[in-house]
Amino acid sequence: MTITLEGRVALVTGAGRGIGEAIARTLATAGARVAVLSRTEANAQQVAHQIREAGGEAMAITADVSDASAVEKAIETLLERWERLDILVNNAGITRDTLLLRMKDEDWDRVLEVNLRGAFIATRAALKPMLRQRWGRIINISSVVGLTGNVGQANYVASKAALIGFTRTVALEVGSRNITCNAIAPGLIETDMTRALSEQVREYALQRIPLGRFGTPNEVAFGVLFLCSELASYITGQVLIIDGGLTAGL
Ligand code: NAP
Repeated sequence: MTITLEGRVALVTGAGRGIGEAIARTLATAGARVAVLSRTEANAQQVAHQIREAGGEAMAITADVSDASAVEKAIETLLERWERLDILVNNAGITRDTLLLRMKDEDWDRVLEVNLRGAFIATRAALKPMLRQRWGRIINISSVVGLTGNVGQANYVASKAALIGFTRTVALEVGSRNITCNAIAPGLIETDMTRALSEQVREYALQRIPLGRFGTPNEVAFGVLFLCSELASYITGQVLIIDGGLTAGL
């Protein structure tokens, strides 16, 4: 059995680099038309260009997910061109790590604004065409720290834990319209976000991962592909953990 997304239209946020880029490429390889949304124009353009070079169909969109009017306009543009929206992957995310006592209001607000409010804004706008179509897949990229907590990441952890509650609620509200909503909780994945960690933190983390290595962006993207496909038609409101076993035994 092969997984195909032929005829589907997908929007992936934060797709200019890292996990989002891998998700956009993977969905395009499976046959979806993909809108590559990112904050930095050059990154979005490059990923869309590479998808087209590989024979896929893609458009680049530059927008900040915390800007409601920019995201709504992006979805309008997508609908004008492709006339449907089947898959939304809320992947854009940032960290501003520091211990709680040192955390500034703006560090808290900005992380919640991008990671949580961004997903809310995009989901609300994407649901309209999905409801009309009676078909939709929404995937929110959370994190294992949203399940476990993590020192120095109160803002990030709060946003990722909230995304799980958000996921379950969306699943409840739109399930009757054949729209599923699931979360993925990655562990440590090799991207710019984890490359910014100190050698000491990376070493400590590595020792706790049963598979003995960080994951690759593609290994998260394959989970997204599965959840977007017909193979996952009866899965909704769930959290798929992709962490090399990091949380096993906790
Ligand atoms: P990354 O390498 O830092 O890339 C983040 C992407 O999000 C970039 O393309 C960036 O845009 C985009 N972005 C950031 N803020 C945005 C905004 N306000 N509006 C639109 N786009 C924005 O991160 P990553 O490691 O791939 O992480 C992707 C997602 O996975 C995040 O939600 C992260 O929390 C989650 N996650 C990552 C790990 C990990 O180990 N890496 C683990 C668990 C969960 P530009 O390219 O334009 O700057």
